[in-house]
Amino acid sequence: MTRRIVVVGSLNADLTIYCERLPLPGETVHGNGFAVNPGGKSANQAVAASRLGGTVSLIGAVGNDPNGTMLLDSTEGAGVDVSRVRRSSDVATGVAVIAVDAHGENNIIISAGANGTLAPADISADVFDDAAVLCLCLEVGLETVEAAAKTAHDAGATVLLNLSPYAEIPQSLAALSDVLLVNAHEASMFLGEAEMPHPGAHASAWEPVRSQFAERGLERVLVTLGSHGSVVLDSLAVPGEQISRIAPTKVNAVDTTGAGDAFTGAVAARLAAGETLAEAAAFASVAAALATTKKGTQAAYPGAGEVLEHLR
Ligand code: ADP
Repeated sequence: MTRRIVVVGSLNADLTIYCERLPLPGETVHGNGFAVNPGGKSANQAVAASRLGGTVSLIGAVGNDPNGTMLLDSTEGAGVDVSRVRRSSDVATGVAVIAVDAHGENNIIISAGANGTLAPADISADVFDDAAVLCLCLEVGLETVEAAAKTAHDAGATVLLNLSPYAEIPQSLAALSDVLLVNAHEASMFLGEAEMPHPGAHASAWEPVRSQFAERGLERVLVTLGSHGSVVLDSLAVPGEQISRIAPTKVNAVDTTGAGDAFTGAVAARLAAGETLAEAAAFASVAAALATTKKGTQAAYPGAGEVLEHLR
């Protein structure tokens, strides 16, 4: 029996318009398609973890509007417990307005809406009684993120912090984070714009990065590297096993949106099932790669069977 994964954070309606090229400031361009899809980093992570067999509870906030209904339906439809997603009549559901050009380049504006009202008082301690992992990102206020981390830490759960979208965090939050999950850009920013190894570099090239994170008290860090896979920096492992390079899973990627969230949700699911960080990252690498082979975010996330078939 796997223990609970609690995800605290954002639910957004992704309003996506496709166009030949992105407009310049002051310019209007014609679009050639429009879609409204469920999104928000935390909702995506919760759906990814649930599809992979996790028992997932989501804590968040939506408005009393059609976007809120869509988001509750999509997360609940994926098996996520949404009984702690607060529905508010005074504020709209969060939205991300996304423009995507013919090359897949995008511009995104997020309006936090109800996500901005998520507060420490929303973090119900009882849900952590049987929790193994808390999954956090930075699309809701830092005070709320830190309150959730403290509650989970006190309950003995592993705190997994996805430092995205990048923001500086207080040392008190860093100290509560058992596992930090970042892409190369976020890793560099966190370390004061430190230079990162080439994404294809050998494991040993990551030693200076591992030691800089460890100096800041972050002993277990996962760095995702897009089509180059990922790297596990585990300063708690015995010397010689502190850095593992996870090779990319070769796929025909058609849409990489939400791949990072699929990776994060998969890591949470496998840590909750008792795997080591390196084992969880290897599984997540396949899950995230498979998520890029279909259009969309939540709709593209694979089930555990699909991932295991690929690992065989
Ligand atoms: P983010 O979207 O947060 O920047 P990444 O682009 O690093 O995250 O992607 C997260 C993970 O998804 C990667 O570590 C990798 O496992 C997987 N992934 C992303 N793009 C591809 C791709 N083109 N082919 C295979 N795997 C991919």
